[in-house]
Amino acid sequence: MKAEKKIVKNIWIDTDKCNGCRACEVICAAYHALPQYSSTNPARARIRVIRDPLFNIYVPVLAGEYTAAECAGRDKYIIDGKEYEECAFCRASCPSRDIFKEPDSDLPLKCDMCESDPTLEEPLCVQWCLADALTYEEREEEVEEEARPEEVDEGLVALAHRHGWDKVVDAMDRMAKKA
Ligand code: SF4
Ligand code: SF4
Repeated sequence: MKAEKKIVKNIWIDTDKCNGCRACEVICAAYHALPQYSSTNPARARIRVIRDPLFNIYVPVLAGEYTAAECAGRDKYIIDGKEYEECAFCRASCPSRDIFKEPDSDLPLKCDMCESDPTLEEPLCVQWCLADALTYEEREEEVEEEARPEEVDEGLVALAHRHGWDKVVDAMDRMAKKA
């Protein structure tokens, strides 16, 4: 592994400022819809807001890495005396729940910081959060470059889970012939 300088992008979340409006979910879902902005289905959002209006608790959670297996041990969260379900704040797209999965294909969803060309000044969820609960930060860091061939495996396994290996192999065959 070699180290190199990279711009690290980060979104800071201030749960005290979040009012649960879900504008971040709407714009993220619309931005990632195909065609772009054709729907606002929050199931396509890479950010989901855990809401408990009775207790005035709102916690935005950004979609993180895909995991192929459920965890064996899980955490319980107690905030202001209120107990949250074990997986409430987990960022992973995982087999044990429907959150952070593309509704049509079941492919795992992960926040891509609104990757685009040209690059946006700030990710859209940050721009749309009028309560300033989301803050964008860029900083230069020395990071170790690690190849992740398993990302391709994860995508293929999710597709096979949805459509079956035969169809996935057929589709790859067709695409290879066109290439
Ligand atoms: S847009 Fe901001 S205030 Fe609204 S739910 Fe998202 S993080 Fe919270
Ligand atoms: S940064 Fe972009 S992709 Fe990530 S959660 Fe916000 S709107 Fe969605």
